[in-house]
Amino acid sequence: MIPYGRQDISEEDVAAVCSVLRSDFLTQGPVIERFERTVAEYCGAEYAVAVSNATAALHIACLALGLGPDDIAWTSPNTFVASANCARYCGAKVDFVDIDPVSLNISPVVLEQRLASAAQQGKLPKVLVPVHFSGQSCDMEAIGRLAQKYGIAVIEDASHAIGARFGNDVVGSCKHSDCAIFSFHPVKIVTTGEGGIIVTNRSDLAARLRLLRSHGITRDAGLMSCENPGPWYYEQIELGYNYRMTDIQAALGCSQMLRLDVFVSRRQELAARYDRLLADLCLQLPVQDQRAKSSWHLYVVRLRLDEISRSHREVFDGLRAAGIGVNLHYIPVHLQPYYREMGFAPGYCPEAEAYACSALSLPLFPKMTEEQQDRVVEALRNLVR
Ligand SMILES: *Cc1c(COP(=O)(O)O)cnc(C)c1O
Repeated sequence: MIPYGRQDISEEDVAAVCSVLRSDFLTQGPVIERFERTVAEYCGAEYAVAVSNATAALHIACLALGLGPDDIAWTSPNTFVASANCARYCGAKVDFVDIDPVSLNISPVVLEQRLASAAQQGKLPKVLVPVHFSGQSCDMEAIGRLAQKYGIAVIEDASHAIGARFGNDVVGSCKHSDCAIFSFHPVKIVTTGEGGIIVTNRSDLAARLRLLRSHGITRDAGLMSCENPGPWYYEQIELGYNYRMTDIQAALGCSQMLRLDVFVSRRQELAARYDRLLADLCLQLPVQDQRAKSSWHLYVVRLRLDEISRSHREVFDGLRAAGIGVNLHYIPVHLQPYYREMGFAPGYCPEAEAYACSALSLPLFPKMTEEQQDRVVEALRNLVR
């Protein structure tokens, strides 16, 4: 089976991990700091806080922004469940803003309308979580302008989008948001096995995130309630978690970051090749905003179902039977049983729902060969001709 995504591990990556195994620190130590600096510098952000996974990053980002049980968070329905669950961990309500059918990201037009009516009803969200779906950034300037107008905090879920750009901005620069998070799960652009990071330009947020990732404990004299009685002393000043990343993971991350631009350009090359090879099929190919330079986490095609004789399910099954590891990103989050229980039903986000009825994510990863890609194209050609 050709998987839809797969990590690219080099001998240098292996050596970097082994050298940490022979060192003094295994869990959070000096390599974490190096990894954080590397990611912050790449993005052009002031601070980075590495954590155990992107779900943990989203959770403590929500907490650090003050999200609580009386609040509401809004996100895209076309995302992994973690973009919504992070608000539920804080006891907040979740609501969904439908996508633009071309970019597949939250629609700034729908967002503007929804914010205007929420403001009238006194039901504005406290936090907005836009998702840079498939690696193509949302128009953060437009979203940031709306967020500022209504006094809403913004967490960019950039799990798909490390290495991407929009206009002159590197994703993660946080020019138009409070913070952005990345995932280092093996199917994503860069991996640490499991891992996540929050980048931000806000020193207050970075300090709070550092507390929350490690039990709410500090050794910083400036934060403590009494004078430090000795070198053993630490204080727990709030309720935090153990969301630390290990130095073993960070070493892999540092080594992978050296190849980030190579990964993205290889993905881009393969995406452009898919564009050429699939152009004559009954498919809607991915459309990029002129200003966007995607990191191509996913290559998603949509079947033009009115022009082909097979159903979405039949094409999906046919590709799997041919050894092609296609996937669906994503089942709209508001249609998950957990969220239906809260009153969401089909019809709530019609664009995301229509999209999910025809979408397929084709295999795409840096080590994918042209032969493998040809096999994908051939299998698809046989099914949707
Ligand atoms: C992968 C992913 C996450 C969660 O990442 P983990 O590191 O596995 O916790 C969150 N949001 C989106 C959009 C993702 O794709």
